[in-house]
Amino acid sequence: EKNFDYLKDLIRTIPDFPEKGILFRDITTLLKNKKGLKDVIDIFTERYKDKNIDYVLGADARGFIFGAAIAYNIGAGFIPVRKKGKLPYKTISADYTLEYGTNSIEIHEDAIEKESTVVIVDDLLATGGTARAMIDLVDKIGAKIHELAFMIELKDLNGVDKLNGHNVFSILKY
Ligand code: IMP
Repeated sequence: EKNFDYLKDLIRTIPDFPEKGILFRDITTLLKNKKGLKDVIDIFTERYKDKNIDYVLGADARGFIFGAAIAYNIGAGFIPVRKKGKLPYKTISADYTLEYGTNSIEIHEDAIEKESTVVIVDDLLATGGTARAMIDLVDKIGAKIHELAFMIELKDLNGVDKLNGHNVFSILKY
């Protein structure tokens, strides 16, 4: 496996945000860096091109940044999975627990077809609650999950254990 740890230098760590005790990994410092942004998108693109992926599902909101760029590069469609109440048409929803707080996420009920293959993308895997809810949404529809992709995985929180044995790819591990 390749080592992408040089990208860690581009990520800023903020203690006690948004709550005391949370060590927040701030990716805005990577996003603003020309090489950092390009390298991350290129890594994902190499991994998912020519894999017959129909859709990239991005998690609200930082999953949109990577998800849309990957979808464009691999010739797939992009589907936003949004926090409750944001999507205008009929939705399917799933509840989840965050590292800090609870919420539900929604997808348009007609966003993906049963026969399609998807990649789920978010910036960071923490407890796995968000990603698990994304899996639940895709399972309700009956589509196939090729893999879940994250820029960062926080290993200590064991988020992978919540992901029903699906393939997980993360560029950086903390
Ligand atoms: P989980 O549901 O606990 O896995 O949390 C993952 C979600 O929370 C992702 O959508 C992340 O964007 C967000 N998140 C949790 N911790 C961090 C962090 O340290 N930095 C940036 N985003 C975070």
